[in-house]
Parts: sequence; structure tokens; C-alpha cells
Amino acid sequence: NSAFQYCDQLVQVFEKVINHPIVSKSSVYYTGIDLGTAYIVLAVLDENYQPVAGAYRFANVVKDGMVVDYIGAIRIVKELKQELEEKLGTELLYAAAALPPGTMTLDSGVIKHVVQGAGFEITTLLDEPTAANAVLKIQDGAIVDIGGGTTGITILKDGEVIYVADEPTGGTHFSLVIAGAYKMSFDEAERYKQNPQNHRELTPVVGPVIEKVSSILNHHLRDYQVETIYLVGGTCCLKGIEDSIARQTRIPTYKPLNPMFVTPLGIALSC
Ligand code: ATP
Repeated sequence: NSAFQYCDQLVQVFEKVINHPIVSKSSVYYTGIDLGTAYIVLAVLDENYQPVAGAYRFANVVKDGMVVDYIGAIRIVKELKQELEEKLGTELLYAAAALPPGTMTLDSGVIKHVVQGAGFEITTLLDEPTAANAVLKIQDGAIVDIGGGTTGITILKDGEVIYVADEPTGGTHFSLVIAGAYKMSFDEAERYKQNPQNHRELTPVVGPVIEKVSSILNHHLRDYQVETIYLVGGTCCLKGIEDSIARQTRIPTYKPLNPMFVTPLGIALSC
């Protein structure tokens, strides 16, 4: 899908710099901070908005889009900031952060304090789908963000957001179902799920959870003429999830090469 050309190129560079940061003489660096239910991701761009470094950590500091462990969130962002500063040999000053759709008024103060508490100057606080669309650049269709704890749904028409919703079903539910079926601990199920080699075998196991996501989408999209669904969020790394959702919603569904890093990069681009 041509919509993903810029996105795929950006994400590919980002994946590389996570392991091999680019030490350059940029006059300024922009950091995007994605505080998720499952992961905290930091993406650093240089003055030309090119990815130069990135880091992420599994964390339990956010639930349903709300920061539940304030001190823990600050500590992890601070540690990731320090780690990136050492790799880049520079201080990271400016950061942007994002919130799930519809929670802006509820939680924006807390997120702001986490970012500032970690030592950043916060330049922008935006909603996650707007951040994702800074990378996807979609005019019409639905951006569906299946993350760790929630599924965010955003409908765009002529480049404008006309509808948002956030539902409490996400990757965590996939892992719980796998843990139950295979008699594994949650952590083992997480690791098993994230290995692409297991995805084919897991298709029937996680099928009912995908159906649940599709029924949520059908409920939210039914009053709008959505012609295309664009998938982002870590859970969409599951092989073939786009085909199941396309079948169950009867809407053509596409995803970029790595749907997990779209939002963090979009946040950084908005910094
Ligand atoms: P939320 O958006 O709900 O706040 P988040 O921002 O932490 O959560 P993401 O980072 O987009 O969400 O995605 C995390 C989820 O993606 C986790 O449930 C994780 O298990 C899942 N995930 C990550 N990589 C893979 C993979 N390769 N295969 C399947 N699932 C994956």
C-alpha cells in the first residue's frame, strides 16, 4: 500500500538505530515519548527529523491509557533518556508525548509531569491517532491502534478526525488467552506470542480475540462509510491479523511493515 511508503522507510531506519544509534552533530534533537500499557518507547530524531536513536522497555505503569504508577513512569523515562544520552553523547532537552483518543482532558496533566519529571522540556502533547497520522498521512479511513491494553479507533475524513473511541481490548487479552490455552505464565505467553515463528500456530488460538476486536470495530464503524482500515500498534505485528479483520469487517485492511513504532515516531515528528 503506497500510504505506507514514508512510514515503512521511517520505521526501518528507526529499527536500525535502536541497536546502532547515529552519532551526529545535530543542532537539536526531538524525542517522542509513548507511554503505553505494555511498553514505554522513546524515539529520537535529529534536526532533519530523521531517526537517530530509540529505546523501549516493557512496563506496567499505564492502564487503560491512565498513568497508574507515576513514580515508576518517571523512573523508566529517566533511565531510557539517560541511556540514549550516553549513546548519542548529548543531552536530550525537548520531548513530545501523546494520550489515547478521548483521554486528553483526563490525564494530560499527569503525562506532562512524567515527561517533565524525567528532565525534559515538553513541547507538545497530542493524541495518539494524530501522532500516528503524522507518519501515515491518511486523508480518509480508520486508523485502528491495537496496543497492549486497548484498541483505539479514529475515523478520518478529508484529513480531519471525525470520530474517536478507545476500547479496553488489546494485546494483553491475546496473551491471557494464550496463557490459558498453553498453561503458560503471562510472561511466557507474551514471549511466545511475540515470536513470529509461532504466529501461524497461534492463529486458531487467538482467533476469538481477533473476532472480538472486529466486532468492536463493526460497532464503531457502522455509521460511517469507512473504505479502508489502517492498522497500527504492537498487536498488529501478529501475522495475518489484517486478513482476519478485513474478512470480519468487510473493509480492506492494511498495515505497515512494523506497526509497533508508528505512534512513537509520529510523536517525535510532532515535537
Ligand atoms: P496501549 O496502546 O494499549 O496503551 P502500548 O502503547 O504499550 O499499549 P504497543 O506498544 O503498541 O501498545 O503494543 C504492545 C502490545 O503489542 C503488547 O501486547 C505486545 O505483546 C504486542 N506485541 C509486540 N510485538 C509483538 C509481536 N511481534 N507479535 C505479537 N504481538 C506483539
